[in-house]
Amino acid sequence: MTDVVVIGAGPAGLVAALRAGDLGARTTLLTRDEFGGMAANDGPVPVRTLAHAARLMREARQLGQYGVSVSEPKLDYSRLLARVREVVEDVRVHSAFREQLKQAGVDIRERVGSARFVDPNTIETESGLRLRADKIILCAGGISRRLSVPGSDLTATHSDAWTLKAVPRSMLVIGAGATGVQVASIFNAFGCHIELFQAGPRILNTEDQDVSVAMAAAFRAAGIAVRENFGAIECFERTPNGVRMVFVKDGRREGAEAELAVIAVGWIADAAGLNLAAAGVKLDSKGYVQVDNYLRTSTEHVFAAGDITGRLMLVPQAIQDGFVAATNAVQGPTTALGDQVSPIGSFTDPEYAQVGLTEAKARDAHDVIVAKIRFDSTTRTIVDGRTIGFCKMIVDRATRQVVGCHIVGERAVEIAQVASIVIAARMKVDELARVPLSFPTYAGMLGRLAATISRQLNLAVGWQANEAEE
Ligand SMILES: Cc1cc2nc3c(=O)[nH]c(=O)nc-3n(C[C@H](O)[C@H](O)[C@H](O)COP(=O)(O)OP(=O)(O)OC[C@H]3O[C@@H](n4cnc5c(N)ncnc54)[C@H](O)[C@@H]3O)c2cc1C
Repeated sequence: MTDVVVIGAGPAGLVAALRAGDLGARTTLLTRDEFGGMAANDGPVPVRTLAHAARLMREARQLGQYGVSVSEPKLDYSRLLARVREVVEDVRVHSAFREQLKQAGVDIRERVGSARFVDPNTIETESGLRLRADKIILCAGGISRRLSVPGSDLTATHSDAWTLKAVPRSMLVIGAGATGVQVASIFNAFGCHIELFQAGPRILNTEDQDVSVAMAAAFRAAGIAVRENFGAIECFERTPNGVRMVFVKDGRREGAEAELAVIAVGWIADAAGLNLAAAGVKLDSKGYVQVDNYLRTSTEHVFAAGDITGRLMLVPQAIQDGFVAATNAVQGPTTALGDQVSPIGSFTDPEYAQVGLTEAKARDAHDVIVAKIRFDSTTRTIVDGRTIGFCKMIVDRATRQVVGCHIVGERAVEIAQVASIVIAARMKVDELARVPLSFPTYAGMLGRLAATISRQLNLAVGWQANEAEE
């Protein structure tokens, strides 16, 4: 009998298998397809590569502003897809995990097809492998949620971008969360006409209200048709040139047509093929594997980590989950998931990012002081001609600690990383203001905001370069 079987070799599964191996468990890692999971093969890595191409195109368009003349950039989509494949391969080849897993003695079984429970301790794969294990860790990730309306088979998901031969002339993007806005922003930069549909009143509805407003305005300015509160989808129909979405708003039937309709309405656990019933593993009301703080499922010896649990669906969280699940699987329930500082952001144009509480949530729970700086008023953004956006800092008056930071604009995601460290370290705002951050930099905005708030709180911070900008 193997001590531990890990199902799925995405970030959660790789770390779970490594941790179990490091703790001395005889461990087998099974995965349906490629090593690296969706993160390496179908999510962040390929999408980031497309987003980088979009960035290069907009940077090329800026050259004239700096006296450099070149002709209008043109995209060769098939060449770009070849580059995506190169990058995916390069990242996979350079993954340190494979070597570390081998050193930890983990038996890696790739491309074995779907693994499923036969009974609570036995796993069988489509390739015919049959393993018994004391402990099983489910790291099978998630898949795009599909709509159950007539004609939904005519729609695509973000993954279908890899199979397109050329950039479509027009696209409907349904769902304006993190995935939808990325698809919309990237293909808009490639010259595709985009209509972005959001069921609720604002796009990016888990972001701070100011971020949603600024992103919607920036998208509209870039030519994306943003349609909030668009109504309820009735069906999709084939048209001579693509697809029509029929929807009903305020009792009126409307239609929108494009070459392609991409559905980005969320993510569900990839649990259908696992035959969880054979092990008594329960799903929660949203269809994710139900876990407690130790990442134990409803079946004592079965654990789950990463997207399959439906918590924050990001690579760093999947990695932390994998570590916690494997530690508890091998050593018993010793490590609980703590409160994590989790920066979230996206590589759209403009970028946006957040860490900590939104202003609305912060005001509910704290007596806060808020400061905001516009990108058209800082030296570095003016130097770079990147003047769209803002950075907002939220500080608890009593503790003087930063409780939230929200950014729209160039390098927003990087700025959020620095803010995350400030929050994780429970740094006081006046301590941050005293750090002589380099000038002129994007992260320097945090120093300037900290100095502004400190002064409003009558805290002595001394003089610093960032203040000179005010
Ligand atoms: C378009 C897009 C962009 C994203 N961008 C970012 C980003 O910028 N930053 C970020 O942090 N996160 C991003 N994410 C999210 C991130 O990719 C996921 O949170 C992460 O991959 C989750 O890791 P995981 O290990 O839980 O699952 P996955 O990476 O999904 O891996 C699960 C693995 O399990 C395998 N599997 C499934 N079922 C079975 C089975 N029955 N038997 C055997 N194997 C099975 C799958 O084939 C897969 O290899 C993005 C996601 C998408 C879709």
